[in-house]
Amino acid sequence: MKIENSRRLFEEARKYIPGGVDSPVRSYKAVGGTPLFIDSARGALIRDADGNEYLDYVMSWGALILGHAHPLVVEAVCKAAGKGTSFGAPTYKETELARMICGAFPSIGMVRFVSSGTEAAMSALRLARAYTGRDKIIKFAGCYHGHADSLLAEAGSGAAALGIPGSAGVTKGAAADTLVLPYNDIGVFRKTMEQYGERIACVIVEPAAGNMGTVPGDPAFLVSLRSLTREFGALLIFDEVISGFRLAYGGAQTIYNITPDLTCLGKIIGGGLPAGAFGGRKEIMEYLAPLGPVYQAGTLSGNPVAMSAGVETLKLLLNGKVYGQLEAKARALQTGFEENAGKSGLVVSCVRSASMLTLFFTGRKVVNYDTAQSSDQVAYTDYFRAMLESGVYLPPAQFEALFVSASHTDDDIERTITVFKKYCASLKPLL
Ligand code: PMP
Repeated sequence: MKIENSRRLFEEARKYIPGGVDSPVRSYKAVGGTPLFIDSARGALIRDADGNEYLDYVMSWGALILGHAHPLVVEAVCKAAGKGTSFGAPTYKETELARMICGAFPSIGMVRFVSSGTEAAMSALRLARAYTGRDKIIKFAGCYHGHADSLLAEAGSGAAALGIPGSAGVTKGAAADTLVLPYNDIGVFRKTMEQYGERIACVIVEPAAGNMGTVPGDPAFLVSLRSLTREFGALLIFDEVISGFRLAYGGAQTIYNITPDLTCLGKIIGGGLPAGAFGGRKEIMEYLAPLGPVYQAGTLSGNPVAMSAGVETLKLLLNGKVYGQLEAKARALQTGFEENAGKSGLVVSCVRSASMLTLFFTGRKVVNYDTAQSSDQVAYTDYFRAMLESGVYLPPAQFEALFVSASHTDDDIERTITVFKKYCASLKPLL
């Protein structure tokens, strides 16, 4: 595949942008080679700067549940942009999207918009600390909640791919109040709560993790988070930046039937434009300025173009039979991966949560960050490169999820399985 233009553009970008990228995982550092510069995309197809087309399973890291450039979302964006792109003053679109989010998530009585998932998690944390009057927080290894200082410990995602346990520049003070525990481990969580419970402001978790690769939360583990936080007066924050409107319209909390105190959202709610949000019970949300003492603000928060893309996306999700179809396609992909790997003697664990999945190259059951890390990353790189060479664009790092969108057809899924089969066949002499 010719990627001369991407090479040239990457070289040029590296002169002005650190590493040539605005988010580390885009650099292909984990899988080697030159990142593809994208020119355009439509539906499930993405086209690079050399005119090569790929079937896209990154889908802007899960934001594009309807696929690229959905005509109705594009129309809503154009219409909003034509009326002015930003005012720094309230618009009705914010209320419209807020009402839809409150309707979708019974745990959310009020919601505040921000511009990214990082801001959502960072602000939810500040709010939880103010509400409880406590300092300490609990997070789980391999869960990513954006790049706020206190949340960067064992954060999975891009940091995991680069082998960075925390981050330089985070002070000891900022990290001191963060306790990092193993995901899906009820025993360790209970013990920690028994020891520190009365000093814990909140527990933040991805109920269906996507940043150590796909690793579903164990229902009993999530139930224990709910009951022990309640017992000790700590808040439970579900970070549903990925899982919100993805696992179901009401997010992972609907599937698991658990009511968190606060929820972080991002990705899908912006319909592919920058937007995030955090919300929860009114009595907690009313601690936010201008009603309460917790300061939190944003010049572009609730941006009318992003809100319009979000409203249109949620309308389409609400009206269609999207979720059942998404799940069926992702299940078919999982079966295709598992069967073909099995036939060729390739040892894999294909883990799926609804329409997101990850292929781990390990014989171990993947339930947390440790077991995710048992995956053979050299094998992942081989798989990534082979699939790319045959026109399938996967996440360029092991500790990420592959996303199926409503625009992927059954034929696309078939084609992907055929490409994977070919890859498995090429390995046979080596195995
Ligand atoms: N929380 C989760 C669960 C995420 O997956 C991400 C981003 N992948 C974030 C927070 C941070 O969101 P953003 O990149 O928009 O800052």
